[in-house]
Amino acid sequence: MTLPYLTPESRLHAVQMRIARATQETGPEGKPVSLLAVSKTFNAAAVRDLAACGQREFGENYVQEALDKQTQLVDLPLVWHFIGPIQSNKTRAIAEHFSWVHGVDRLKIAERLSAQRPPDLPPLQVCIEVNVSGETSKGGVVVSALPELAAAIVALPRLQLRGLMAIPAPMADRGAERAAFRQIRLAFDALNSRGHTLDTLSMGMSADLEAAILEGATIVRVGTALFGERIK
Ligand SMILES: *Cc1c(COP(=O)(O)O)cnc(C)c1O
Repeated sequence: MTLPYLTPESRLHAVQMRIARATQETGPEGKPVSLLAVSKTFNAAAVRDLAACGQREFGENYVQEALDKQTQLVDLPLVWHFIGPIQSNKTRAIAEHFSWVHGVDRLKIAERLSAQRPPDLPPLQVCIEVNVSGETSKGGVVVSALPELAAAIVALPRLQLRGLMAIPAPMADRGAERAAFRQIRLAFDALNSRGHTLDTLSMGMSADLEAAILEGATIVRVGTALFGERIK
């Protein structure tokens, strides 16, 4: 199927409208939701086009691909988030070249990121990836392991623990999507009731951002709806 060509601006506007409508539906207690544009597999020119429409936050899954784009886009005031699986041998590059890391799920990785975060940069902003049942990604900690990992990460000097991230499996309907996101929100609330001051729930993608926002997402990570289908 060939989709009609949409300009980056019209795609961005459409996603912003979806976010605004869902945020409105959450009512007055709803928190502001920020849009992370997931640019993996798309080139620097595509990022530049979206940045020209005002988008600032970009998410990448592959370190080398991200560094190449960052080099080509140094002239822009962009904020880079690493959202892919984290291998030990990539922690230094991530600590040096990103502002946020969403998929931390092991203390060893967190310790390396903290130790390798350059002293002249602000602390690395991190989310713990949580794995509620039925998730597609192999990463993520089970809910029962969260309190211990969160406490250990908070103690690391060069990281700032901001919240949780999750990638639930695609669901058949909005109700099932919401049920999965609700489990993540409940885990988040439980950490805050134990004394944490987390403010970030990174959940929801192109297909399910409305359900995520209705359950309390504060960052939605959107690729396809902004850039089109990925070929790779
Ligand atoms: C690719 C990716 C996304 C974006 O998914 P879309 O369905 O294209 O919006 C979001 N989060 C993570 C972790 C991803 O790897």
